[in-house]
Amino acid sequence: MKNHLSILFSFLIFSLAYSQSISVQGWVKDKNTGLGLDSAFVILVNKNFPQQKDTFRANNSGYFSFFLTSARDFESVDAILVTNNYPNPFNSSTNLDVYLPEAGNLKVEVYDVLGKMIDEKTFTILPGKHIVEYYGKGSAGVYFLVVSFHGKDFVRKIIQLGNLNGDGIKLQTSGSNYLNKFLKVTTNQYLLIAERFLYVPDTIEIDDSQNRNITFELETVHQNAILIDLHNDVLEKVVDGYDLGVLNTINHSDLPRFYKGGVDVQLMALWVSPTQYPNNPFQQTLRMIDSFKVQLNKYSSIMAQALNSREIDSLVKLGKFTAILCVEGGHAIEENIYKLDSLYKLGARYLTITWNNSTSWATSAQDPQATTKGLSEFGRQVIRHMDSLGMIIDVSHVGPKTIDDILEVTVNPIIASHSGVKALRNHYRNLTDQQIIKIAQKGGVIGVIFYPPYLTTSSTATIKNVIDHIDYIKNLVGIDYIALGSDFDGIERVIVGLEDVSKFPNLTEALLRRGYSISDIKKIYGENFLRVFRQVCK
Ligand SMILES: [Zn+2]
Repeated sequence: MKNHLSILFSFLIFSLAYSQSISVQGWVKDKNTGLGLDSAFVILVNKNFPQQKDTFRANNSGYFSFFLTSARDFESVDAILVTNNYPNPFNSSTNLDVYLPEAGNLKVEVYDVLGKMIDEKTFTILPGKHIVEYYGKGSAGVYFLVVSFHGKDFVRKIIQLGNLNGDGIKLQTSGSNYLNKFLKVTTNQYLLIAERFLYVPDTIEIDDSQNRNITFELETVHQNAILIDLHNDVLEKVVDGYDLGVLNTINHSDLPRFYKGGVDVQLMALWVSPTQYPNNPFQQTLRMIDSFKVQLNKYSSIMAQALNSREIDSLVKLGKFTAILCVEGGHAIEENIYKLDSLYKLGARYLTITWNNSTSWATSAQDPQATTKGLSEFGRQVIRHMDSLGMIIDVSHVGPKTIDDILEVTVNPIIASHSGVKALRNHYRNLTDQQIIKIAQKGGVIGVIFYPPYLTTSSTATIKNVIDHIDYIKNLVGIDYIALGSDFDGIERVIVGLEDVSKFPNLTEALLRRGYSISDIKKIYGENFLRVFRQVCK
């Protein structure tokens, strides 16, 4: 039996710099309009060396171009591999695997131990893997194989047993497959990031193996965020014949303006005047729902009602304006738990426990007894029943003692759908620090209202005032408990810059300028409320 002993020598072959230049060019465009964006930046980051960054500015049309010159430091893939069929004297071919980063002349020489050249050949070869083969010549002894490439020499010692009469140096080139593999290993990877104010950055990965033509399509932060407004009173107008599908110049809300404002989900309040309908608010609430359904049918291609979070998700994905009903004022249920059931079945997903009027079972914030009188036993039953239905408890308008009682009874997070911060504007409709803290501790949210008199004592209110209230809640309890509750069409005065539902993008811009991150904005606009909705409404 032949005794084969293989000896492997593994060496680094070289580490040559191989530079090449590729051109990278393209456009930064608005995803919606397809138009090029001025003032966009493109940032190139070397994935392996993130500290290596370069920033390019797109021109006024959103076009950018640059050359990517990469000095590649070629890693030796496996370097030289010498295999010797030692000590078998009858088959003493020697193979050296040679990996080359670029084309050039590869010179191979064989010397004996005295320095006498035995064989010599030069090959002009392409990058990739090649195998230098040496079939022994001459007498037994020690030989040196010298491989030279681009002025660098690599010497390998070989031992030849016995006198041989081989063919000397030969070259074998592996197939192109290997060449590709080789190049892939050594291609530099980059991240190309397009950024522009008001837009969500986008990242594309490239490598430097070829020229690139790239189009970034950026979405605005506003479009990207799911915008859920917790309170709108337009159904008060709809019940009187107002058409939501027409672009109106009166009121604050209609479908064209909801679309322009990027409102994805609107909580639509069913509010019945307790003075106008003192005896039958429930019946009037049903009439409002009927008028809402008429609009829903009329505009079913662009508008839909959601009853649960799955429907919210799918409708938002479809790009449909999504309405969720809610009831403002416990007087609507006329002290009858079955009427609460009916409203839930018709789609009402939160109940504002009181409006400005107290009921027999809950006390309004406007009530002189608000600090001392809370929930009655029936009131507690309503709260527990809402918990079992999966209906959100809203405490905007609700008196402080009643809020405390609610927090004792409910097992769910609660919301204040449209309120402000009392520490900034001392008004009975606003929340104290303690109330904000308690709502946050329960995991609820506060929808910051857009009504000037609740935000400031000055005669005009601006977006800055709205953000001041958002800021205050953020600093008190954190970003996770803030939402928006405009109260459009329930207010007779408006914020400068937030005059109707089409103006929400102005708030996004102002929040970004104020230093709010994209993730902060997404939480305020929808994610925080969705967390509560998923938990309570299932
Ligand atoms: Zn209200």
